[in-house]
Amino acid sequence: MENGSCENGSDNQKWKFRGNKELNTSSVSVRGFLNLLMQNINGKDDRPTILICRGDPTEFPSYRTTSSAVDAVVDSLRSFNFNSYASTVGVPVARKAIAEYLSQDLSYELSPDDVYLTSGGSQAIEIVVSVLSRPGANILLPRPGYPNYEARAAFDNLEVRHFDLIPERGWEVDLDSVEALADDNTAAIVIINPNNPCGNVFKYQHLKQIAETARKLGIFVISDEVYGHLVVGSNPFVPMGEFASIVPVVTLGSLSKRWMVPGWRLGWIVTNDPHDIFKKTGIVESIKSCLDISTDPVTFIQGAVPQILEKTSKDFFSNIINIMRETSEFLYDTIKAIPCLTCPHKPEGSMAVMVKLELPLLENISSDLDFCLKLAKEESLIILPGVAVGLKNWVRITFATDLPTLEDGLGRLKAFCERHAKKQTNQSSNGDM
Ligand SMILES: *Cc1c(COP(=O)(O)O)cnc(C)c1O
Repeated sequence: MENGSCENGSDNQKWKFRGNKELNTSSVSVRGFLNLLMQNINGKDDRPTILICRGDPTEFPSYRTTSSAVDAVVDSLRSFNFNSYASTVGVPVARKAIAEYLSQDLSYELSPDDVYLTSGGSQAIEIVVSVLSRPGANILLPRPGYPNYEARAAFDNLEVRHFDLIPERGWEVDLDSVEALADDNTAAIVIINPNNPCGNVFKYQHLKQIAETARKLGIFVISDEVYGHLVVGSNPFVPMGEFASIVPVVTLGSLSKRWMVPGWRLGWIVTNDPHDIFKKTGIVESIKSCLDISTDPVTFIQGAVPQILEKTSKDFFSNIINIMRETSEFLYDTIKAIPCLTCPHKPEGSMAVMVKLELPLLENISSDLDFCLKLAKEESLIILPGVAVGLKNWVRITFATDLPTLEDGLGRLKAFCERHAKKQTNQSSNGDM
């Protein structure tokens, strides 16, 4: 041995980590923060831990998926038609069904060839970000946003530039900042509608303005519509694809949220491109190449898609919306009555809303993360700190729970805020600290 150190197994060899370090730096995920908060739960608290931080309400019986969706999967399996490898773009019957489903909301018809099936909306994000990750390129992402985009971009060395969503304007996109950020290397702008984490639904006119701004800049729009149709307010959901004649649009969607089956892993990428711009620029070919080297969604779920889309009753959807309208209104009204919290915009859709912490009114709370850590410890209540979605000293609260759980959770939040509220200045300075 060259340095003679390995004789009795005392191995001085220096192993180097040669893996992708971006995985560590980009691990600022929602799950990462939730794990951190869960570690802070006080084991001596007899009360159950309440999580009002996730976009997955499937544990509540009232959010159970429709039995027709389950039947569709059973029928798909029993048909024996979906046991082979699928085409990497997706099985034809599912592509056709999704094209027809989405066309119902558009003033033109999508073709099955516009639809690519993915393992949930998450893989749709992964593929679109990979396709855009040319060296030197950048992508415009909303702040606050959905941190998967930042994580995937970091992983692929794609530069991220953030534009703001403006709370005072119902979380509309700050279009001036979009124009200031974009340059010749900007590949696309991402919008999320209905919006996670803010809970707003963009109006028709604003979507049109976004399309016109993107056109002016020569960049296309990626519209994350994973929460499509999950609307509890008065703004209707308008798909960005409606403006595809102004600017080409890539729509991302999924069964996860509307059908309450996030574990089924079925999502899609759709190109809304009436002028064939994606084809001309080679983006369609890149999406296909990327799918060729990715894992496909499970075939029997793909095979179930036509029946799921066709047979789900209106009652299933309206029932879910009614529950979420009630929980979202309860959340908004309760927050309004807690002095150190501000919710600038009543939730209109998705499953979450952003709430601002008025830190000057709170004693011994240094940040949103500090707030959430202490809340976990003292009240066994988990909410997401705003830093996880790009907005420090805010928190994200979800209303996709049943009402009793939300009542219990918000009761604890209120008690926590009262306990930590700063005493009025005229009664303080009595040296009781
Ligand atoms: C949940 C979510 C996704 C991921 O969708 P899945 O189908 O669960 O993978 C993508 N974008 C946003 C904004 C989401 O909230």
